[in-house]
Amino acid sequence: MDNNNCHQDKKFAVVNPSKICQPMGAVQALLGVKDTMPLIHGSQGCSTYMRFQLTRHFREPIEVASTSLSEKTVIYGGEFNLMKALKNITEKQNPRMIAVASSCLTETIGDDMDGIIEKFKDANLDKDLPIIIPVSTPSYTESHVEGYNRTVKALVEHLATKTVPNDKINIITGNLCPADVTQVKDILKTLKCDSIILTDTSENLDGPLTEETLSLYEGGTSVDEIEDTANSLGTVALSKHVNSAGTFLEKKFGVKSIAGPLPAGLENTDEFIKSLCNLGDYEIPSSLEKDRGRLLDAMVDAHSYNYHRKVAIFGDPDFVSGMTRFTAEMGMIPSVVCTGTKSKIFNEDMSLITQEKEISPVILAGGDLYDMHQAIKAKGADILIGNSYGASIAQEENIPLFRVGFPIFDRLGAQRISILGYRGGIEFVDRITNTLLDFYYDEAGYEIIEEEKEEETKDKVGNTLKIQYSTMEEI
Ligand code: SF4
Repeated sequence: MDNNNCHQDKKFAVVNPSKICQPMGAVQALLGVKDTMPLIHGSQGCSTYMRFQLTRHFREPIEVASTSLSEKTVIYGGEFNLMKALKNITEKQNPRMIAVASSCLTETIGDDMDGIIEKFKDANLDKDLPIIIPVSTPSYTESHVEGYNRTVKALVEHLATKTVPNDKINIITGNLCPADVTQVKDILKTLKCDSIILTDTSENLDGPLTEETLSLYEGGTSVDEIEDTANSLGTVALSKHVNSAGTFLEKKFGVKSIAGPLPAGLENTDEFIKSLCNLGDYEIPSSLEKDRGRLLDAMVDAHSYNYHRKVAIFGDPDFVSGMTRFTAEMGMIPSVVCTGTKSKIFNEDMSLITQEKEISPVILAGGDLYDMHQAIKAKGADILIGNSYGASIAQEENIPLFRVGFPIFDRLGAQRISILGYRGGIEFVDRITNTLLDFYYDEAGYEIIEEEKEEETKDKVGNTLKIQYSTMEEI
């Protein structure tokens, strides 16, 4: 099967999409901004859906406001509802900032969010209003990845202000889980690199249980820090798809910008550290070198169990290209890779990785989980890496699902799954190898191979039937 075959007999629908809508990406970015309320300008179901997905993944209370549009507002416009929502949030929660993301509905009816927000400000000149930022996130194009990208760009466009140079590096994380944001922050700390994290979800989405009344996101990047991004030494984006803010800061304020790759695995983490050292004068301490050595050691230890195991990977484009390189570094064979986002950058990344690592996976850019399942049937896979939506495919193919990405709702601890940096890499190598050991090896450590057997039997009228079944045998 070549890389295009999956699209040749394409059905005329997306079946089980491997992406989410733009406002979800906007909310994910805003959950890492201190004292900020995300407001979806759309029907109530949009924010309910987002809160539901985020809560069952992070197991934390999630606040997302809605302008709650109805049939009437679809005809007459959502101005009244947006003004009322801004008033209610200001009076009841009084955040430092409200970020308004549009939805399918308001983009289609063409609501002028900027104009409505200006009108609201004009009508409340005597009041101390929060900062209000509009973000255009039309849900019928692109995906949550672009929603995230647009939101971080909107934050720096509205807030970044040139004042006094600082010695910081802006880090655009992309849609990472709190544990991975913490891994990245640990590397920065080890290098003694001061940073501004855009945006820092490590506290808000993995908070301790306290007896205090829940208040709006107390952790995260502050408005003051976002203002200061214009004065930084440079910007490093951990994703090549979410670097519009870095490009903006470079063009407007001369803040040098470097995009990607996601620091997953040995080579990509080396690349991340190299990018930081290109922007600032950082010394690599022996502790970081030791962590690198430990990752290499973990990969060698695991090699006999995962060498040449076929792996199928799906998720966000930078995640998929990062994991493809990482698993290939480990000696595994990526057989199918799928992202829901159509992306030239992803295709270029994959072309480079496949050449360097001499692998030839089926590459699905803009694919859905149906396409991926067909490709797995054709190319085979010993393990699937991706979010909870891969569970039924893994079950049908009788392979394990290694859960990572978003959303993970059928297991606990999604906010603590770490794959980035050398230390996150060690966790990943251990966990995926143990998953393979659980599935393909017996309790004495011997590999179990599946052998197909055929048996004959007779039906009620005496016809001979051949029954095929599988047994698991040790070698
Ligand atoms: S796709 Fe549109 S309708 Fe559905 S949740 Fe996203 S914004 Fe709302």
